[in-house]
Amino acid sequence: METKDMVSIDMTVVLPIYNEEANINTLYDRLTIILKKMQLTYELLFVNDGSTDQSLKIIKSLAMHDTQVKYLDFSRNFGHQIAVTAGLNTAKGKTVTIIDADLQDPPELIPNMYEKIMEGWNVVYARRRNRKGEGILKKITAKLFYRLLTKVTSVPIPLDTGDFRIIDKKIIQVLKNMPEQSKFLRGQISWIGFKQTFVEYDRDPRYGGKTGYTYRKMIRFALDGITAFSNIPLKIASLAGFIVSGISFLLILYSLYGRFILKNYAPGWASIMISVLFLGGIQLICLGIIGEYISRMNINIRNRPLYIVNESNIEYS
Ligand code: UDP
Ligand code: MG
Repeated sequence: METKDMVSIDMTVVLPIYNEEANINTLYDRLTIILKKMQLTYELLFVNDGSTDQSLKIIKSLAMHDTQVKYLDFSRNFGHQIAVTAGLNTAKGKTVTIIDADLQDPPELIPNMYEKIMEGWNVVYARRRNRKGEGILKKITAKLFYRLLTKVTSVPIPLDTGDFRIIDKKIIQVLKNMPEQSKFLRGQISWIGFKQTFVEYDRDPRYGGKTGYTYRKMIRFALDGITAFSNIPLKIASLAGFIVSGISFLLILYSLYGRFILKNYAPGWASIMISVLFLGGIQLICLGIIGEYISRMNINIRNRPLYIVNESNIEYS
């Protein structure tokens, strides 16, 4: 299996890891059983995204006994989407499976998904029928976010899917050539097109440990998705500007009428306060929206490396 002249293997499984010490061994066992049964040549590519627990140590000890275990270790936490991107950039497989490391995405689904790839589909993603063991707030915000996202984007991003999917060579190639720094992979993959299909599954609760997605990371992720795939917030901002200006114009006419025709000098403190505060609010919101886009342009212009690798057991050729 490890002959030098072997150019490519059937599948790379990309595993983003952020403090998953409680899950890695079980994950490894379940994946290995499945992949051996499928009789594929494969590699398990662990991307350690700055874990502060024993994750890296566990991965390294797996790698000592199994040459199919590869790893990249980041210099710090760069985020889930970047970890997966690093995996895609480094993968040797003809197909790549992206899967969460907390066993919320059951590895047992891989054979069904891979079958569809063999039938000629370029992307097979897994759509969740329900999500167990997640807080009500997470479920509601996720539901709302994906509904909002499909409303404001021109790309149809499938509802109720995570990043759990298998993609083939064509898709990997295009993804590698998409240089944007704010990654929203499930959107990018939809945008690429080709033939995409899905299988349905029931999402399990996390096997061990706790979520690495803080609300802060979730908000950033949501804004990355919206700004990368839609200009509608900007259009809403300018529309709001027009509407507010229109109303202001009418109020100006009314004020002049009151001042010169009716000659009634009402004290008018309340109306002034309300309009000042209202206008101030609208302006700040619009500036904020513009700021979200500009900050992302700024990140792209700086063009820093997406991630920094501390160590790895992969020889680059
Ligand atoms: N993850 C990561 N970097 C982070 C946060 C999460 O690589 O900064 C990984 C994590 O180890 C897991 C996957 O991304 O494999 C999904 O994260 P998590 O399960 O914490 O998110 P949730 O399922 O709660 O949305
Ligand atoms: Mg999870």
